[in-house]
Amino acid sequence: MFYKSTRNSNLKVDSAQAISQGISEDGGLFVPESIPSLTLDEVKHISGLSYSERAAYIFKKFLTDFTDAEIQYCTDNAYNTKNFETENIAEIAHLFDGTYMLELWHGPTCAFKDMALQILPYFLTTSAKKLKIDKKIVILVATSGDTGKAALEGFKDVEGTQIMVFYPENGVSSMQKRQMTTQEGSNVGVCAIKGNFDDCQSGVKKIFTDDEVKKALEENKLMFSSANSINWGRLVPQVVYYISAYASLAADGEIEPGEKLNVVVPTGNFGNILAAYYAKKMGLPLGKLICASNINNVLTDFINTGVYDRNRKFYATCSPSMDILISSNLERLLYMLSGENDAQIREWFTALSNEGRYEVTDDIKAKLSEEFYAGFCDDSETKATIKNIYDKYSYVCDTHTAVAVKVYEDYRRATGDTARTIIASTASPYKFSSSVLEAISPDFSSDDEYALVDRIAELSDIAVPESLADLKNKPVRFTGSIDKEEMSDFVMKSLNIK
Ligand SMILES: *Cc1c(COP(=O)(O)O)cnc(C)c1O
Repeated sequence: MFYKSTRNSNLKVDSAQAISQGISEDGGLFVPESIPSLTLDEVKHISGLSYSERAAYIFKKFLTDFTDAEIQYCTDNAYNTKNFETENIAEIAHLFDGTYMLELWHGPTCAFKDMALQILPYFLTTSAKKLKIDKKIVILVATSGDTGKAALEGFKDVEGTQIMVFYPENGVSSMQKRQMTTQEGSNVGVCAIKGNFDDCQSGVKKIFTDDEVKKALEENKLMFSSANSINWGRLVPQVVYYISAYASLAADGEIEPGEKLNVVVPTGNFGNILAAYYAKKMGLPLGKLICASNINNVLTDFINTGVYDRNRKFYATCSPSMDILISSNLERLLYMLSGENDAQIREWFTALSNEGRYEVTDDIKAKLSEEFYAGFCDDSETKATIKNIYDKYSYVCDTHTAVAVKVYEDYRRATGDTARTIIASTASPYKFSSSVLEAISPDFSSDDEYALVDRIAELSDIAVPESLADLKNKPVRFTGSIDKEEMSDFVMKSLNIK
């Protein structure tokens, strides 16, 4: 299996190259040259395997340049009960008749990013070894909260790597800040930026392309790579849990083998829902893919009209991991839907970076509405949904998941489609305690995030994740805060190359 760039169909690399490089030099994203198939017999077969074995089974179809032993090394190190709270890795909760919550947040940082970022470091270091790269891999991450912590946990003390995370000083929740500033590990660095998420992101991008930095890295046997969801090594692990969930539901008699399941995904960068699309293209019987957004509803408009327009106001919401106006992974979908038309992709994405807007063809609009449904809701609807689910089912969900539930309710009302449905639950409610409590316990308030945690524990059946409880006693290691102009200096100094 080879991987092509969405901006140059003639370029071909193997998966080790795609993963260690992160992004293609032409600015395109790596995509598999064909989609491997998956039969119902195989789905039945994997239902008898552990999560780690299920993952290995799927990875063998995509990472054909990896040996079986290399794949097993990666999956064994990632999907185990040292890292995840439960043996199932991804749990399925029954919400109401025919609707299932796929809980993707039982990993070390309590958000679904762990599903991919626990394994990415092993994919990366294995890829580098295969390519005989003898450089240390340096990961730079700009984060609005969840990715940074998940990447830190994934890369901490992984030999041959070093990681640095930048977050907006006043742009993350207090729990997210505590998670990052108390991070353990000898190869990690965390720094607050006096600015917003965009400042962090543009600062990181500048360092990646800075000639002086590049030269210094080269001289010191270091190389940059990306832990962002543009990296194929982050997308492929996400395909696994949709297949795994289907296999489990079929084995438990919840669905008939072959029955179509809808999937609802709270969406930001379009990575998670794209993974569901890949699973469907492999042959997994999935129905509608329902794309749920918050009030930053650029994707809702795009799927409904074919016009992508980021020229709009940016809102900070109570589902901050979806506060995003450029959904990078859409490029992969459009490459596939356009029949791998790389010239067309170059045109659209040049327009996006120059004018902030592009419009797809009628043919693609038709394909989009065939595969996807899109909707959005605002913060008050999000909180009303958290309360409603709590009152009806005694289930406490986080703000991102609530957006998905609300859009799914709208979908059912609009279409009358009552097919069984999986809702991707992307974060633990404990991670967004204050918004969750505003919804279900509005009279309670406290400046102490652990008082909030205790209150949710009183109201829900969900145990406080150990990893969050433990933070209370961990010393703060990273207190630095710098201007964005100082980022490159900070990186050079941390790497001892200045
Ligand atoms: C990152 C994130 C999302 C968005 O996922 P994408 O793959 O970027 O679409 C949704 N919910 C939570 C909690 C997240 O951390």
